This record gives sequence, structure tokens and C-alpha cells, in this order.
Amino acid sequence: RCGYVSIVGRPNVGKSTLLNHILGQKLSITSRKPQTTRHRILGIVSRDLVQAIYVDTPGIHGEERKAINRYMNRAATSALRDVDVILFVVDALKWTTDDELVLEKLQKTALPVILVINKVDTVDDKAALLPAIEKLSKRMNFADVLPVSALRGHNVDELHATVGKRL
Ligand code: GDP
Ligand code: MG
Repeated sequence: RCGYVSIVGRPNVGKSTLLNHILGQKLSITSRKPQTTRHRILGIVSRDLVQAIYVDTPGIHGEERKAINRYMNRAATSALRDVDVILFVVDALKWTTDDELVLEKLQKTALPVILVINKVDTVDDKAALLPAIEKLSKRMNFADVLPVSALRGHNVDELHATVGKRL
């Protein structure tokens, strides 16, 4: 099982922290951020017969008045087409209009999208997350839903395994 995985989400949800955790512990090949034609490859993780190539996507911004933001949104949107699995990272405690924008883009893809609810360490009552998950799941079909803490590394191994099931 092998394939490309992109990590998307608005700024500050913890995408870099998540990637650092995945790559930092399970790294088999470190790319020095080569610019490929389609993707900036951040790292390749090989474990348990699953090889996942994590790629970078430019951040998606709600503010489209600036040309650079329009350019980045276009680049991010095209990056969503050329991968096998998409990780949609959200903050367990904060949903914003930028999350909304990312969701709208993801609703258009036929690719498997795994909803990654990050920062669960900040939530005392985990059951309180369920209504929000239910609400989001009504708006698009997620291949999987996984609560994680990128900071603490909670459920990050499971995330790699979950990605493997979709490759
Ligand atoms: P990005 O913009 O999506 O790449 O987000 P970053 O990885 O840069 O993280 C943004 C902020 O959230 C940083 O201050 C991180 O330390 C913090 N953060 C990331 N993951 C977690 C988490 O699981 N729990 C907590 N409490 N904070 C986190
Ligand atoms: Mg980042």
C-alpha cells in the first residue's frame, strides 16, 4: 500500500505539528523539501507495509482580494486532485469561516477524506465533540473520523494506520 497524502486545513489547526510528529518518529526517508512538478514532498513514512508520501499544500485563505491568496488557493485546490487521500485537519474547539471554505472545497472531491480532529487534549469532555462530528458528517462523507493530539502524539500512530487502509 503506497500513495500520496495531503494535509489540508486552515492556518493554526496544527498541520505542521501533526506532520512533524508523524515524520519525526516514523521517518524512513527525509526529503529535503524537493520541489516536484506537482507536490512539495515533506516526507515518506514506511511502516507496517504502508508507505505514505506526505505532501504539502499551500494554505487556503478566505481573503481572495490579494493575488497571492488567489494563487495559493488555486495551487491548494489543484493539489487536492493529485493525491490519494486527504487529511482534513480541524481544531476540536474552534470552527471558523476559513474551515468552512476548506470544507466547501473538499465537498467537491471524490477522494477519500479523513477528518482529523486535532487538539483533543484541550477538550475535557470528549463526548462534547460528538454533536459537532455528527453535524460535519452530515455535510460530507468522511472515509474516517479520528480525534488526535498532534502535540501529545495521541492517536497519531492510528492515523498512519487509518491512512494505510485508504491507500
Ligand atoms: P498549522 O498552521 O496548521 O501548521 O498549525 P501549527 O502546527 O503551526 O500549530 C498551531 C498552534 O497550535 C501551535 O501553537 C501548536 O503548538 C498548537 N497545536 C498544534 N497541535 C496541537 C495539539 O494537539 N494540542 C494543542 N493544545 N495545541 C496544538
Ligand atoms: Mg503550518
